[in-house]
Amino acid sequence: CTVGVVRESADGERRVALVPKVVEKLRGRGVEVVVEAGAGLGALIPDQAYLDAGATIGDAWSADVIVKVAAPDAGELARVARGTTLIGFLNPRGNADGIEALREAGIRAFAVEAIPRISRAQVMDALSSQANVAGYKAVLVAANESTRFFPMLTTAAGTVKPATVLVLGVGVAGLQALATAKRLGGRTTGYDVRPEVADQVRSVGAQWLDLGIDAAGEGGYARELTEAERAQQQQALEDAIKGFDVVVTTALVPGRPAPKLVTAAAVEGMRPGSVIVDLAGETGGNCELTEPGQTAVKHGVSICSPLNLPATMPEHASELYSRNVEALLELMLKDGVLAPDFDDEIIAAACVAGADRTDPVAVGAAAA
Ligand code: NAD
Repeated sequence: CTVGVVRESADGERRVALVPKVVEKLRGRGVEVVVEAGAGLGALIPDQAYLDAGATIGDAWSADVIVKVAAPDAGELARVARGTTLIGFLNPRGNADGIEALREAGIRAFAVEAIPRISRAQVMDALSSQANVAGYKAVLVAANESTRFFPMLTTAAGTVKPATVLVLGVGVAGLQALATAKRLGGRTTGYDVRPEVADQVRSVGAQWLDLGIDAAGEGGYARELTEAERAQQQQALEDAIKGFDVVVTTALVPGRPAPKLVTAAAVEGMRPGSVIVDLAGETGGNCELTEPGQTAVKHGVSICSPLNLPATMPEHASELYSRNVEALLELMLKDGVLAPDFDDEIIAAACVAGADRTDPVAVGAAAA
C-alpha cells in the first residue's frame, strides 16, 4: 500500500504536497511513496531528489492515499479509484459540488481546511502555514506597487517619512503582514472585529485601531456583521483609511462572501499613489473596487488582488504544507496501516467525504 504525490495541474499552482525530507520520514514508518514524474518541478524539486529520499517515480494516481494541494478537477477525479483516500485543500465550505463529486466517486476525503483550530492540531494547520506565506508576500506586493518608500530615510537629499500601513483583518495572514511591514520600516496599525486580537497586534509593534465592534464567532473565527454594524464599520473605516499609504486586507468569515471593509468612497479618499492589497479576492474581495486576480487603478490608487499567493513562494510553502500533511497522516497511521479513528475530533472534522468507510487501509511495507 502506498501514498501518492501527484503533479498539480491548476493554473499557477507550483506547490507540491510532500517534499523529499518528509518522504524520507514516511519511508521510515514503513510507508511506500510513489511520486508522479515532475510533481516537484514547480517547487524546484527534481524527481531525483524524491528517488534519493526513497520514493519511486510512477503512477501516483493509483496509490491508496493521494496527497494533493488543490482540489481535484473533473479530469483528475476520473483518475482516482473508488476507495482511495484523498488529502488536500478541498474547499468544503465553498465547493459543495466538488465535495458531492468526491462522495459519488466513493473517495474518502480529508479537507485540510476543516481541521479544527485546536492546540493538538497546530502542527497540521495548513490554513495557518499558507496564510503566513500569503501575509508576508502581500506586503512585498504592496511595497513593489508603491511609489513610496516603506522605511524612514534620512539622507543628504532630505528625509522621507515612513509609510503608514493598515492591516484589516488580523488572523494569521494579517499578523504576518503587520510583522513584515514593520520589518520593512513601515508604521503599522491593525484592525479586527475580534477584540482579543488587540494584544496580538501590539505584540508585533503595531497600533490597534478600535472601532468598538465585537463580532467574535465560533471556533476562533469572526461572525458576519449585522447590517447596522457593517454600516458603522464602513463609515469609521472610511475616515481612518484616508491617512494610510498602504492598506492590506485579509478579512474572511468562514463560508460567507468576504466582508466589504473598504468602500469606493474610502478609496476615493486615499491619496493617489496609495496601494491596497486585497487578499480576500477568492471570496469576492474586501474592497468594493477589487477585481479578483487583477491590479486595478481607481482614483489613482492601485488595488491589487493577487490570488493564491502561497503558490508564488512554492519552496517554503510546499515545505510547510508537507509538514502539515505528514502530521495528519501520522495521526491516522497505526502500525503501518492507515486506520483513521473517527472518534478523534480532528479526523472526524477533517473527513468531508466517505466518513462511513472505516475499514483500515493497509499502508506501507509493514502492512503488505
Ligand atoms: P480568517 O482567515 O478566517 O480571517 C482573517 C481575519 O479576518 C480574522 O482575524 C477575522 O476575525 C477577521 N475578520 C472577519 N470579518 C471581519 C470584519 N468584518 N472586519 C474586520 N476583520 C474581520 O482567520 P484565520 O487567520 O484563519 O484565524 C482564525 C482564528 O484561528 C484566529 O483566532 C487565529 O488566532 C486562530 N488560530 C488558532 C490556531 C490554533 O490554536 N491551533 C491556529 C491558527 C489560527
